[in-house]
Amino acid sequence: MSEVAVELSATLLDAITARAVVLDVDGAVVSLNRAWRDYEALRRVRIGLGIGDNYFEAVSTDDAPAWWGGSRAATGILSVLTGRRARFTMDYSVLGVDGEQWFELGVEPLAHEAGGVLLTHTDITDRKQAEESLIVRALHDDLTGLPNRALLHDRIAHAMTKAGRRGHNTVVMFIDLDRFKMVNDSFGHAAGDAMLVAVAERLRRSVRYGDTVGRLGGDEFLVLCEQVSSEHEAVVIVERILKALDEPLRIDGQTIYPSASIGVAVDSQESVGVETLIANADAAMYLAKGNAIRRYAIFDHSLAAKTADRMQDEHELRMAIENDQLRVLYQPQLDLATGTVVGAEAVVRWDHPVRGLIAPQDFIQLAEETGLIVPLGRWVLDRICTQLADWADSGPLGSAGRVWMNVSATELASPSLVDRIIDTLASSGANPAQLGIEVTEVALMHYPDVAADVLARLESAGVAVALDDFGSGHASLAYLSRFPVAAIKLDRGFVAELDSGDVAKAIAASIVTLAGGLKLEVIAEGIEKEAQVESLLRLGISRGQGFFYAPALPSDELAAYRVS
Ligand code: C2E
Ligand code: MG
Ligand code: MG
Repeated sequence: MSEVAVELSATLLDAITARAVVLDVDGAVVSLNRAWRDYEALRRVRIGLGIGDNYFEAVSTDDAPAWWGGSRAATGILSVLTGRRARFTMDYSVLGVDGEQWFELGVEPLAHEAGGVLLTHTDITDRKQAEESLIVRALHDDLTGLPNRALLHDRIAHAMTKAGRRGHNTVVMFIDLDRFKMVNDSFGHAAGDAMLVAVAERLRRSVRYGDTVGRLGGDEFLVLCEQVSSEHEAVVIVERILKALDEPLRIDGQTIYPSASIGVAVDSQESVGVETLIANADAAMYLAKGNAIRRYAIFDHSLAAKTADRMQDEHELRMAIENDQLRVLYQPQLDLATGTVVGAEAVVRWDHPVRGLIAPQDFIQLAEETGLIVPLGRWVLDRICTQLADWADSGPLGSAGRVWMNVSATELASPSLVDRIIDTLASSGANPAQLGIEVTEVALMHYPDVAADVLARLESAGVAVALDDFGSGHASLAYLSRFPVAAIKLDRGFVAELDSGDVAKAIAASIVTLAGGLKLEVIAEGIEKEAQVESLLRLGISRGQGFFYAPALPSDELAAYRVS
């Protein structure tokens, strides 16, 4: 080559941003580019590579760079030098001053009769990091940053293999938030998201180091506990999680009381697959939802049958609502002094083609958990309003009596409830002053802020609200001043105690005083004996309902009902 040509090729080589070295056919360095020189200077890497040095010897010393590792790079370069390969590339990483750096080694033959190769070491750290974060994202949930289903699957499989070898159990907990849909619907998706993030954090804090919390999607989370020695240990963890979730949450200025149902599956020695283990935990969760007191269930084989039953019930109830198998009955409320009917409580029954009349205790909860309570409640509301319009002022309740409809916690949190009530009243032509809504304290407790809003809107629409089952537990009195209620329904347990204890009488007396001060009507529930009527009247409670008078009746029987 001429002097000019050599200089020109050196300039060309310097133009390459990657570190570049040209080797001749024997592996001796013909030239190094600026990036190479700068890199060495910068990193103070003492390879001592100069023009004429043998590349292989230079990099194979004891303090050779870590990437070299000898074999792979050397073999690759040699294979191109000797013409056995047209090209060679290899990714490697070094631990530099700024952390891990990735390079791609490229080996290209020189199109020159003397042979030789061009080596380039291109910095690909950015690309590698991007790839890595893609992998992280592919395996994690965007919202909470928790492992997603794919990664959980992998971790469970791994844990199961490990546990099998060591004689430990792998425990999977399927966690489903209660009423999450209501939070989303009432407060918006941003609030729903905030709740999920908060729940994820609480879950993370309640498990042990080494356990995995992941999100399956929606409001479903999964906890993987490795090396659990007994079922008791699993229960301790479950209870800790439930307690952590129970704490009130402030989102967007609203107080929300989250709660969850948990299904637990333990990988036994017979070792089922990962998917089966998750499905078993899910089935146990489904049953835990049906249990108001114990919020978790542990999977065993008898539970599989129960789950199937419950699914069947859910299906039948859905069909029952669609096929008009529900009935509304009316229990008369009386003026206890005169015996005239002054109102009625509407209660629903399921007229099952095979099982006969089914009481609400046996299906309302299922309806709540499955969301069927909304169409069910809509159906009941429709029925009541149609009946009220039909009776108008000349019905059994006269023009001033109300029909009270029961509304459950889930319905109360549904954002469309108030509009639906107003619309149904309007379209049926029923008088809002003849409708009342019964809510329980539990309903008010769960979403105090939403409930206050709903109750205020009902009040301004002229629909009265009664607090149901008053005195059946909880710190009830505080609610009376906070929520705009027009009436309280003295729980039947309380009424039953009236004949037996002075304490009950004293409490009842103070409730009556308080109610009088707040201008609340008191309606006694579950009156079964004449003596109770007398006690109630003496206490100043003049309104009530109960089997002593009549059970809930079909509308025509209510119309014909007279106190005998
Ligand atoms: P609740 O609102 O406290 O309704 C009163 C319940 O007490 C009714 O039971 C009624 O039949 C019963 N009862 C009435 N008088 C007596 C008595 O003298 N002694 C005794 N031991 N019991 C008496 P029912 O109809 O089985 O309703 C049970 C619960 O189901 C209701 O309790 C209410 O919370 C719920 N429910 C009923 N209908 C509906 C509905 O349409 N929607 C919703 N969401 N819940 C409903
Ligand atoms: Mg009621
Ligand atoms: Mg009640």
